[in-house]
Amino acid sequence: MSSSHYAPVPCSASRCEKHALSGAAYCWTHLENKGEFIQSLNLSAMVDAWLAEIDLAGRDLSNANFVRARLSGANFAGANLSGADLRRAFLDGANLRDTNLRGANLELAVLGGADASGADFTGADLRRSNLVGTKAHGADFSQADLYYARPGNADLRASSFRGSTIERTIFRRANLSDTDFTAAHGTANFESANMQGMKR
Ligand SMILES: [Zn+2]
Repeated sequence: MSSSHYAPVPCSASRCEKHALSGAAYCWTHLENKGEFIQSLNLSAMVDAWLAEIDLAGRDLSNANFVRARLSGANFAGANLSGADLRRAFLDGANLRDTNLRGANLELAVLGGADASGADFTGADLRRSNLVGTKAHGADFSQADLYYARPGNADLRASSFRGSTIERTIFRRANLSDTDFTAAHGTANFESANMQGMKR
């Protein structure tokens, strides 16, 4: 498949200013056979795919390859993305509520403005990821690698970071109330963070 296949093209619906999904003529909103489209996805080869706003809630997407994929505003609520390769993926504004991201690779991924409340990031690679303004109430970041991740202004209340790597992690102005940082290692930036009730 040539890389030009994934160059964003406009949605074919009149007056729609969104991009068409990769392999389709329409954006998610205007796509008619949504179920058929999802069935046609080759989950092992979604590199660079444009899939903004797609609804994959509750789906088994384990070990899928979404490297650099555009998943802004997508719905992954309750989906299984364990072991998925999401390096440099755009997940800004995505719904990651109760999503299984155990062991997923999210290096350099963008999760700004996403809602990952209740998500399981156990053992995930979040190095250099952008978590600015991410909401994640009661999420599990146990054993995750957050080296140089940027959860500035993130709302991470009641989340667990047990045994995680937080070397150079920038928690500036983040809400870390009632979080658990037991056995987390590394020197993070907690400037102006809310650390009320934090366990260390
Ligand atoms: Zn459209």
